[in-house]
Amino acid sequence: MLFLVINCGSSSLKFKLVETSSEQILNNSDKILVHGSVQDIGQDISTLEIHDGGLDIEKELEITNHHEALEKAMQILESDETGALKSIEDLDGVGHRVVHGGELLSESVVIDEKVEEQIEECIQFAPLHNPHNLAGIRAAREHFPGTPQIAAFDTGVHQTLPKKSYMYAIPRKYYEKHGIRRYGFHGLSHRYLRWRCAHMLGTSSAEIKVITCHLGNGASLAAFDGKTVIDTSMGFTPLEGLVMGTRSGDLDPAVVTYIMQLEDFSREEIDRVLNKESGLLGLSGETNDMRTLLGLMGEGNERAELAIDVFSQRLKKYICAYYGLLNAADAIVFSGGIGENSYAVRQRAVSGLDGLGIVPDAAANEELVGEEGHFSADSGNTDLMVIPTNEELMIARDCYRCLKN
Ligand code: AMP
Repeated sequence: MLFLVINCGSSSLKFKLVETSSEQILNNSDKILVHGSVQDIGQDISTLEIHDGGLDIEKELEITNHHEALEKAMQILESDETGALKSIEDLDGVGHRVVHGGELLSESVVIDEKVEEQIEECIQFAPLHNPHNLAGIRAAREHFPGTPQIAAFDTGVHQTLPKKSYMYAIPRKYYEKHGIRRYGFHGLSHRYLRWRCAHMLGTSSAEIKVITCHLGNGASLAAFDGKTVIDTSMGFTPLEGLVMGTRSGDLDPAVVTYIMQLEDFSREEIDRVLNKESGLLGLSGETNDMRTLLGLMGEGNERAELAIDVFSQRLKKYICAYYGLLNAADAIVFSGGIGENSYAVRQRAVSGLDGLGIVPDAAANEELVGEEGHFSADSGNTDLMVIPTNEELMIARDCYRCLKN
């Protein structure tokens, strides 16, 4: 079957055309036929890019909203000249990445009026994401009337969290009245990593115990006992947990109110500090970009080294905590821009844990850059792995399952 997978941000629309089937899922041979994006929607000049399937297109256009962005991209995909999508009728469905599904939308679903209302209700929890995801859904429905639209949620798999992992130790009325609890994010990536890890180890993903580390500009971990997430590091919002590019991650909550008082900050101002000015950027005073920081550390920049050390130690603490909660893990998987590419961070995160049976092979680790592979030493009990994530593939597979069911 053929699916268009769409991921809409505030000023961007990314898309992939994916071919999948039961057999292709089993063999991990589903194909991304074309991928592209429209960036800077609503600016004077927007950029449209389409690659693969024999295409290598880059255009500058004036695009004012998501509807126009989809229309322009589809004009090219459907044109005789490219032939990437011969006819709209060839498309079996459109899959949408939706950041927040709240407590009701735990699995990918075909979008009907009720689902759309529920996604809209979740805007209160994800005001920066769900409105744009909805814009993509509405644009796709207009462009492909009659084609099923499917929503896949970043919070979805984390709805398997047990209550003891998702409740905050604050008065429970805030959960009951306002839904304040831990939701978790990056769920599509964590699910893909669990599935692919089990596949690579030749075991069932229903049986495996695995810690998945999605380490990009945003970063989170999940601890899977089979298909259940027993804990994850992001919480009510993606601010909790690991140190990230520009987000602080875990923090004594008293620091927040103290800074607000000292600096006379509004909610928006403190939100900006914690989400946009903290993390690797805040610690280093230089950049949120791990690759640049690794370069600076090599030149002897102490603040860059400290930022990398704080990032890596927080990661190591979470890995150890999840290893304990799981009572040992079959595998620890690294992914995302940092997890897939940075030997130095991976090595720091899993060194000195031989007491737990976690032993990296430094040479094998150094060789793994942006590709699947293992880097555990023979003396370890836990497989250490790198797996490039593929959230769009997960969405296309969910579309397939939703429509087959
Ligand atoms: P993502 O959000 O998944 O695209 O990841 C972005 C992060 O990955 C940035 O901090 C990049 O600096 C980092 N990254 C990308 N490539 C490398 C690399 N080769 N070595 C270290 N970090 C990298």
